[in-house]
Amino acid sequence: MTSTPLSPTPTAQSEALFARARAVTPGGVNSPVRAFRSVGGTPRFIREAHGAYLTDADGARYLDYIGSWGPMILGHDHPAVREAVAGALQGGTSFGAPSWREVELAELVTRLTGADKVRFTSSGTEATMSALRLARGFTSQHGTGRKFIVKFRGNYHGHADGLLVEAGSGLMTNAAGHLGTSAPSSAGVPEEYAALTLVCEYNDPAALDTLMELRGHEIAAVIFEPVVGNAGVLIPTPDFLAALHRVKEAGALLIADEVMTGFRLSLSGASGLLGIRPDLSCWGKIIGGGLPVGAYGGRADVMEFVSPQGPVYQAGTLSGNPLAMAAGLATLRALEADPDIYPRLESYTSRLAQGLKDAARDAGIPISVNQIGSMLTAFHQDAPHGSVGNYTQAARSDTAAFAAWFQAMLGQGIYWAPSQFESIFVSGAHTVSELDATLEAARHAYRSVS
Ligand code: PLP
Repeated sequence: MTSTPLSPTPTAQSEALFARARAVTPGGVNSPVRAFRSVGGTPRFIREAHGAYLTDADGARYLDYIGSWGPMILGHDHPAVREAVAGALQGGTSFGAPSWREVELAELVTRLTGADKVRFTSSGTEATMSALRLARGFTSQHGTGRKFIVKFRGNYHGHADGLLVEAGSGLMTNAAGHLGTSAPSSAGVPEEYAALTLVCEYNDPAALDTLMELRGHEIAAVIFEPVVGNAGVLIPTPDFLAALHRVKEAGALLIADEVMTGFRLSLSGASGLLGIRPDLSCWGKIIGGGLPVGAYGGRADVMEFVSPQGPVYQAGTLSGNPLAMAAGLATLRALEADPDIYPRLESYTSRLAQGLKDAARDAGIPISVNQIGSMLTAFHQDAPHGSVGNYTQAARSDTAAFAAWFQAMLGQGIYWAPSQFESIFVSGAHTVSELDATLEAARHAYRSVS
């Protein structure tokens, strides 16, 4: 590495901006995790980003493992994306009418993912929200009036009311009594909305089977993260995936939320990698190459229920925005043109996983690392059988130890996800020497907190 990402970092400018931001924006940020609440300290206000690096308002440079929470799989300011957006800009910024880039991106996404049809939105939240409305509309056509949906504990699907729900554990211990009594996890979500969302533990096929047996006839859809990134990384077991496929037998639609995993774990997402056959999928993040895009799509007979063809309404002033479509097209084309990228990301990230385990072990710090492709979480805990499989287990992590380790990394110029319950992302811009510098920093950080 040529520069000094491991030097201590000044924060005066970020502190000043944070103070101004707090006066005019709730918590000083436009999305909560950016405020560093769970790890403390000053969130860095970013001035610019290139390749694998961020530069903040104080001029400090950070090696970035967040990648804007997933979209930047090619690294920041990738030339192909920059040129595509600059080219699109010459033709205007928004039309509110159909245009050719939407057609090309839809053709590319359907070809890569196997979805028959796709509809673009401007965020992942809109995609999941719309997919659930569609599932309710579609499954109710036979007069079954299916109102309920199922989600999994610790899975995040954006901030629509019905998805901000996370029931306590105990579904299986008192199945019938607890089913349908999910509690909202945000103020402002009416209990009546939350009651339509049933929650199971991830990787618990028996709980899902029981729920479907008892309530399957009322359930419109089961939505899930095919690899979880939002409770830290959780990897589905084959038994759990089999149980997910069984929900179709009860007439429910299976919705894979690939907002994080789509085009990250393979060109056909986690579904392609793990052999999942959803009825509908949702995308976001990478599909927009760093600009605001989401999408949902899947079976033609279901997608035909979306307006104007069908009775399920969904719309968007900026949906299919030409700049966003250009960034998405350039990103997906660059991924498709580089057949080595996914194997390389996997090998780099497993090198990181092994290095973190070694460094923590040498410092006497218990960690359990979950890694798949370019997604990784190092949980500060000694998990049974060496792996964290669900939210309840993830929640046993030592968050204070994580926060101290995070700060020690940040102080050395490594920008890790500021929460124990998030994935980090390796991008095509990271190199082996940067990974090794990261592991060197991690060694110092584990030693400093032991
Ligand atoms: N679904 C998943 C799996 C996500 O990780 C996210 C965001 O992190 C969303 C949905 C919501 O996407 P957005 O933040 O674009 O609304």
